[in-house]
Amino acid sequence: MADTKYIFVTGGVVSSLGKGIVAASLGKLLQARGFRVTIQKFDPYINIDPGTLNPYEHGECYVTVDGRETDLDLGHYERFLNISTSKANNITTGRIYQNVIDAERRGDFLGKTVQVVPHITDEIKRNILILGNTGDYDFVITEIGGTVGDIESLPYIESVRQLRWELGKNCLCIHLTYVPYIAAAKEVKTKPTQHSVKELQEQGIQPNILVLRTEKPLSENICHKVALFCNVDKNAVIQSYDVPSIYEVPLVLARQNMDKIVLQKMGVPIKGKLDLENWKNFLNNMKAAKKSVKIGLVGKYVELPDAYKSINESLLQAATYHKRKLDLHFIHSEKLNDENAEELLQNLDGVLVAPGFGHRGLEGKFAALKFAREHNKPAFGVCLGMQCMVIEYARNVLGLQNANSTEMDPNTKYKVIDLMEAQKNLKIMGGSMRLGAYDCKLEKDSIAYNAYNSELIRERHRHRYEFNNNFKAQFEANGMKCTGINPQTGLVEIVEVPALKWYMGTQYHPEYNSTVANPNPLFMSFIKAAIAENKE
Ligand code: GLN
Repeated sequence: MADTKYIFVTGGVVSSLGKGIVAASLGKLLQARGFRVTIQKFDPYINIDPGTLNPYEHGECYVTVDGRETDLDLGHYERFLNISTSKANNITTGRIYQNVIDAERRGDFLGKTVQVVPHITDEIKRNILILGNTGDYDFVITEIGGTVGDIESLPYIESVRQLRWELGKNCLCIHLTYVPYIAAAKEVKTKPTQHSVKELQEQGIQPNILVLRTEKPLSENICHKVALFCNVDKNAVIQSYDVPSIYEVPLVLARQNMDKIVLQKMGVPIKGKLDLENWKNFLNNMKAAKKSVKIGLVGKYVELPDAYKSINESLLQAATYHKRKLDLHFIHSEKLNDENAEELLQNLDGVLVAPGFGHRGLEGKFAALKFAREHNKPAFGVCLGMQCMVIEYARNVLGLQNANSTEMDPNTKYKVIDLMEAQKNLKIMGGSMRLGAYDCKLEKDSIAYNAYNSELIRERHRHRYEFNNNFKAQFEANGMKCTGINPQTGLVEIVEVPALKWYMGTQYHPEYNSTVANPNPLFMSFIKAAIAENKE
């Protein structure tokens, strides 16, 4: 394709409508037509990145291969499109301002007054175009975070307005709104959508396509009414009603020809057919699965489904490939102890101990791991979960009383998990963890090696503490093996207990690298072991 096409996705009425899923689903459809697609997100908050936000504020923090802490929507983009995103795919207002202010301090503005328009908007536009300018993509989909009408999204909407002029036919605006059902009146209401589109129009943008989020399918009348009031073609009012799985959304949009409408509006000839064969197979497996696999996820944010988003999706993908329904149980680590571990865990087929920071709920994680270890139940520790595995093993197998991570107890006698050398003199908390993909060399014949079927892998990290190599010999002599090592630094990336059926901890986050097309090998291996436990 000659020119890169830019599609913008804005949201109205309320947040949490699933703009990221709609953007990813449209991306999937364009990709399924043979186009090269990437998706980026612009977040209007002042933080430089979400790395310093806690999960209550922002859900999971996703990490790209090149080491950027990003919004969790990037996880959806990767899982749907089976692509790798990068630093360029997630920009915040904080970063935009930082760039502009740095330029001002350098003297780049030659004595001019620095203003939101044009300087901030120019920097936003420059960032929007970065991926497109590489020539690697036919379509760049840009999701604008927040809701139209928010004070903080104004510069973004203004940048999109300007780009529409500059890009002409190569630019398309999609607005996602909400159509609520009012139970007392037994009616759906389009007024919020009308208001939201009006707000967008006041800011100079006429959307080309509207996506209406609704609980139940809407009548044609309702869609036509919206089209009439909002100056949008009838066929360009698409509905996105609730479906049992987010992975069905591309099919919902395809049935309404959203891909063709986008192509027509952008003047791209419609060629070939929409190839969603593999995607449909995956969905069919998901629906056809009768037996389930019961996994317990032990963490401290159980009331917050977004906190462990990528782990949930990785487990679901692996279960689906094994033709099982994922029966996921969230177990609050603060409510778990040695007394109730049996009651809470005995019926599970496998236990996954979640990543995290700080000591809250830590004892519960030890209790879960001790139970799994003593009852030979498949157990998977991810990042902090791996560190907990090491600490529990140190205390209860190696007999190192009160062994700990120096994150939790800086004065512990047995620092089996300790701050990485490179972290020791750091004063700045933002963006300074060990982040992104690193090499890991696997021990032949380990479970990890057999799962990946390869000796050298690369997985993504987000941590400050590490396995203390001073204790390596002692652990190995007592049955916990270090089966994955970073070849450059010698850092331990994987521990396993070969005497048990499946007991593994990874310092890295395999969940960041698991897509519908390509589920992560360790999740596949873990689910397989859990299924073998299954007493159904
Ligand atoms: N808090 C631990 C560390 O910084 C683990 C981090 C994590 O689980 N992502 O090393």
